[in-house]
Amino acid sequence: MSGEPEAPAATGSCLCGGVQYEVRGPVRGVIFCHCEPCRRTSGNFSANASSRREDLVITQDRTLRWYHTDRDVTPNVQRGFCSQCGASVFWDPQGYEFVYFSAGSLDAPTGITVAGHIWTSEKSDYYEINDDLPRSEGSSKGRYFDTPHD
Ligand SMILES: [Zn+2]
Ligand SMILES: [Zn+2]
Repeated sequence: MSGEPEAPAATGSCLCGGVQYEVRGPVRGVIFCHCEPCRRTSGNFSANASSRREDLVITQDRTLRWYHTDRDVTPNVQRGFCSQCGASVFWDPQGYEFVYFSAGSLDAPTGITVAGHIWTSEKSDYYEINDDLPRSEGSSKGRYFDTPHD
């Protein structure tokens, strides 16, 4: 975690409030993921921040549902979404040190910035990536942070 700025504890929710969470530790920067499962579940590329698994506390799960697809290259991923408003909220690679949540579900100000792009090889053709952020055709393999990341 030594290159990551310390961020205050954060809170987040889906649109309807049926899924709410708190992050009781540092929030890592946002990864834009252009992979096909993220595209098809989020409606565009996904934008996920992350924290250490033990720092994420789900405080409301009334409408939270979990979904697994073998089309996620990372094994044992559970995607958490709201069954009422349809928001994609969590991307949980089980057994990993970090857990991911959609940047848009965080209450602002978030205090974080975008770290880079992953899975650009699977992006759709209706937009271009025009920024100077780091990008990877597949997983970042931990290059965007000091710790492993898919
Ligand atoms: Zn909801
Ligand atoms: Zn993805």
